Amino acid sequence: MKTETIKRKKSRRIYIGEVPIGDGAPIVVQSMTNTLTGDVGATLDQIRCLAQAGCDVARVAVPDDEAARAFVEIREQSPIPVIADIHFDYRLAIKTIHAGAHGVRINPGNIGGTDRFAAVIEAAKEAGICIRVGVNAGSLEKSLLETFGSPTPEAMVQSALTYTAFMENRGFHNYKVSLKSSDVLATVAAYREFSRVSDAPLHVGVTEAGPLVQGTVKSALGIGLLLYEGIGDTIRVSLSTSPVQEVRAAYAILRTLRLRERGVEIISCPTCGRCGIDLFSAVERVEEMLSTITSPLKVAVMGCVVNGPGEAREADVGVAGGQGQGVLFKKGKLVRKLREEEIVEVLVAEVRNMASS
Ligand code: SF4
Repeated sequence: MKTETIKRKKSRRIYIGEVPIGDGAPIVVQSMTNTLTGDVGATLDQIRCLAQAGCDVARVAVPDDEAARAFVEIREQSPIPVIADIHFDYRLAIKTIHAGAHGVRINPGNIGGTDRFAAVIEAAKEAGICIRVGVNAGSLEKSLLETFGSPTPEAMVQSALTYTAFMENRGFHNYKVSLKSSDVLATVAAYREFSRVSDAPLHVGVTEAGPLVQGTVKSALGIGLLLYEGIGDTIRVSLSTSPVQEVRAAYAILRTLRLRERGVEIISCPTCGRCGIDLFSAVERVEEMLSTITSPLKVAVMGCVVNGPGEAREADVGVAGGQGQGVLFKKGKLVRKLREEEIVEVLVAEVRNMASS
């Protein structure tokens, strides 16, 4: 039986800075800074960490004038394109557009009416940048809530279609759409339906997904189900932790679906009574030490001879543990025996070598 490859749904191409989104472009990984935007140094430091982890586009909250002023310098010094995230105050959207934002994210439902939405559209059109219309189940218009009774997927789709029609009527096509809910099944249903009726590029994510484990599972399911159906052009995993973890989780999702590879995939066992080495600490150290490698490599760290040699042989580099020792495999070949205390060091050196060649 052959493994399926995902056929991606056709969408329109837009750009955020130089980064292409949609129409078959690699799925773009985004994250959002959680520093105070006014603190330019801290925000830029975080954007650099995100970029190093593989983030393609960073989003920065612009809640007030101070943040809008800081945005100018952030945008100038950022190594990756920066999107300004605006709620409530359309003037901040216009200010950041004039400051050279590579894109703005607004929720037209809270921007203060259609005139103000139109003013943001005009500014974006003039600057040649894209808008993300972010529909969120938590902030749907009153009229839709009255019609649908609650923030249902249908209500979210209706909201998005109203806004996209508004932009299209003004000759503005440089936009992408998100329809997020903290409910995974509602999110999936909304994106599915919207993608059936629109070819707008989609920014996919589950909003307010939660802390690391819960949020990663919800995001992996929500984003993963949609990507598996070919829906989605850019993704953001949203977690209540460091945004660098969001980027790592995003790549884990993309790698699992074979949509985009970057960095080291670690195959490690959960251990059991047969394990003869301190596997958890070895895996933790290997993961940390290899976190800056960008080459897509598979590294196995296994506890014993039951599944260890098999997995280690299939990996680019792998170790199968024994009692206080291990054996090293490289590209399927057994290379040498290792003492437990040298496993991490040797494994990491081998992977770094392979990555640099
Ligand atoms: Fe247990 Fe060995 Fe399997 Fe690890 S590889 S879970 S130690 S049997």
